[in-house]
Amino acid sequence: PTFDKEKLLKLVQENEIGFIRLQFTDILGSLKNIAIPAKQLEKALNNQIMFDGSSIEGFVRIEESDMYLRPDLSTFAVLPLQSERAKVARLICDVYTTEGVPFEGDPRNVLKRALARAEKLGYACQVGPELEFFLFLTDKDGKPLVQTQDDAGYFDLGPVDLGESARCDMCLALEELGFEIEASHHEAAHGQHEIDFKYGSALRIADDIMTFKLVVKSVAMRHGLHATFMPKPIFGIAGSGMHVNISLTKDGKNAFYDENDPMQLSKEAYHFIAGLLEHARGTALITNPLVNSYKRLVPGYEAPVYIAWSAHNRSPLIRIPSARKAGTRVEVRNPDPSANPYLALAVLINAGLDGIERELMPPASTDSNIYDMSEDERKAAGIENLPAGLDEAIAAYKQDPLLRQCLGHHVFYRYLDAKVAEWDDYRVQIHPWEIDHYLSKN
Ligand code: GLU
Ligand code: MG
Ligand code: MG
Repeated sequence: PTFDKEKLLKLVQENEIGFIRLQFTDILGSLKNIAIPAKQLEKALNNQIMFDGSSIEGFVRIEESDMYLRPDLSTFAVLPLQSERAKVARLICDVYTTEGVPFEGDPRNVLKRALARAEKLGYACQVGPELEFFLFLTDKDGKPLVQTQDDAGYFDLGPVDLGESARCDMCLALEELGFEIEASHHEAAHGQHEIDFKYGSALRIADDIMTFKLVVKSVAMRHGLHATFMPKPIFGIAGSGMHVNISLTKDGKNAFYDENDPMQLSKEAYHFIAGLLEHARGTALITNPLVNSYKRLVPGYEAPVYIAWSAHNRSPLIRIPSARKAGTRVEVRNPDPSANPYLALAVLINAGLDGIERELMPPASTDSNIYDMSEDERKAAGIENLPAGLDEAIAAYKQDPLLRQCLGHHVFYRYLDAKVAEWDDYRVQIHPWEIDHYLSKN
């Protein structure tokens, strides 16, 4: 729904809303908010709410720290699960500088720029994400344990699936917030779940991903559980992905569909796939941002390792789901739910558009199981690997000019600095594996 200022003020008054949360997301993907009493809403709607950006990860230096929040009125929603004493609503905001221009370090602004580029080429971007997560037990202080709350598996149902009632409440809370839930199920690993919601335009979906994670975590907490979007919490079982389905529309029609092609894919679809493949290594630092992300991208768990595409197989990076006509889309399988959704969608869309602009063609699709191919066979087929670790991803990010272009100078360097620091911190640690293997033998 879109509201004008007057309508919104009236709505807030009529519904006796006590507080409004003004939300935005920092560069590393954490949701931030400033809560204002409803009386202050008018001020907020006149874009007069200022905050100190210097305390926000990756935002600005002390001497230029004042930032303004401009609410996007179309994101107004009354939040479920709040206190009984006051109703709380939220507005998602764009960040502006004191000069009144969009702040280049605002991830939502980065995505808007990517979408403007698509629009210039005549395209609108539709996105459907699939977020997986684990539900873990908590200790008596409410601290998360790395212990799943059930022993169920793929598509299992109660009474084994103890997370089912939590998942049901999550779906209800999401529906109250306007999500159209398509399906939810138990995933392959113990304690692992997935809730899918309807695809939509890219900006709204990025906002929705932030909301989704907050709701899932809040509801889990009410059930005494901890929900985590950490990509690979447990060695030896499946990790959690965030597959991203993307399609482009032109004049309201799916631009990836061509009934005359043997695979019923349009030229644009092939170019877009080629662009995604070409930039897969460089964009990985954004789509797979953690040291831990790379422990998910290993053979054997339906997560991709190799840079290839297929219409039939789940092992490559890109799969083309069987739906055609309006449902024609590409499924990018490497992103994980710890990624900043604004930046992740921005870099994927830019990678695909680069393919379209340069009319790149992908290599032949790989329909055999790539895990069964030898290294030589993969080489012969021109199949490269995704980065094997955060350090490799950092190197690839620096090498691919698309990233600096798409993210802008500010985000590119702040993000890089944060990731280099994260890697440096990790690489000097002594891992329990090292103690197990080396302590007694050496
Ligand atoms: N959990 C798998 C992953 O890490 C995906 C399983 C699926 O295909 O839904 O990407
Ligand atoms: Mg899944
Ligand atoms: Mg999928």
